[in-house]
Amino acid sequence: MSVQSMTTTRTADVEATLAQIYALAGSGVDIVRCTCNDEEAAEGLAHIVPRSPVPIVADIHFQYRLALAALEAGVHALRLNPGNIRKSEQIKIVAREAGDRGVPIRIGVNAGSLDPDVATRHGGLTPEALVASAMHELDLFREVGFDDVKISVKASNVLLMIEAYRLLAETTDHPLHLGVTEAGPPPQGLVKSTAGIGALLAEGIGDTIRYSLTADPVEEGRAGRTLLESLGLRERRGLDLIACPSCGRAEVDVIKVASDAQAALDGRGIPLQVAVMGCVVNGPGEAREADLGIAAGRGRGHLFVKGHVVRVVPEDEMVAALVEEAERIMTDGIEARVAAAQAGAEEIAAETRAEMLAAQGLDPNHSDDRIKRMREISG
Ligand code: SF4
Repeated sequence: MSVQSMTTTRTADVEATLAQIYALAGSGVDIVRCTCNDEEAAEGLAHIVPRSPVPIVADIHFQYRLALAALEAGVHALRLNPGNIRKSEQIKIVAREAGDRGVPIRIGVNAGSLDPDVATRHGGLTPEALVASAMHELDLFREVGFDDVKISVKASNVLLMIEAYRLLAETTDHPLHLGVTEAGPPPQGLVKSTAGIGALLAEGIGDTIRYSLTADPVEEGRAGRTLLESLGLRERRGLDLIACPSCGRAEVDVIKVASDAQAALDGRGIPLQVAVMGCVVNGPGEAREADLGIAAGRGRGHLFVKGHVVRVVPEDEMVAALVEEAERIMTDGIEARVAAAQAGAEEIAAETRAEMLAAQGLDPNHSDDRIKRMREISG
């Protein structure tokens, strides 16, 4: 599974584009697409491709000659939009040239730029219309013996996109590139993209993905990587910070501690799942699967590793201790850290838990009291 993103710089601005490509590669992007919208952009690609740390795809619309120029620039792949390069002869010329050079092409259908004739024949912007557009292009490629193809049928409507990809997956065995196009700025863009891409990935559909966000493209890379990691489709490369939602039992400001922990741990290349939990009553148990965690209680932080409390620190040292422990685990391993637990840490946590339960009871949110009163009100 690969994460793709697209540069937002002018491709002719080689240094700016390369800087963004490096930032994207650092955020977990495997493939970067650059627009090739004019001759200067194509010439820029000739400088960019040999210096790029990841494969470069040239994004081609309207002008088939720019596809030929991009091939000459040495790009690793092309994206052609069947909606705006429609002349069969031109499409075949590009496919033949790509075939001779061993360069793959993505047939990038987009609901927003679908060939109007195809839409008319298939009842408008339907899944069938999007798939038919891709299949027509594929047929033209096959006429010249070209089959090194990846396909996308993106739409900004999430349900249309999901249905189109399902149909596409039933129709062809070619690799599929997933995306919700023009998803917009976060958080809506993130939610829409995750709903569409995540639903399909969970069904086993998709080979490359792109979050099309109205944001710094580095956000697209992070989102894509996180989605693949959360679905178990990619080994975790960085931090996975989980945190409880907080409740009446919380002994600290969980939102603040979690964001401080994220800031302190991010960028250290620590591929651990770290939990920030609001209380020691439930924290170590609820987050027992986490590699490392901290739970608050009575002015102290209780550090736990795989559910075992290994150390107790003052509350204002919680985040610093979390960083120390994470680095220690990276050096010594989880089992060694559990074996070297501070004497008495489990007992302190158990006492604190008991004290908190005695003070707060089993219902710290006072839900039972509320329900009693509600019943009295409703008679
Ligand atoms: S019970 Fe404790 S760990 Fe669970 S949500 Fe409340 S504060 Fe967080």
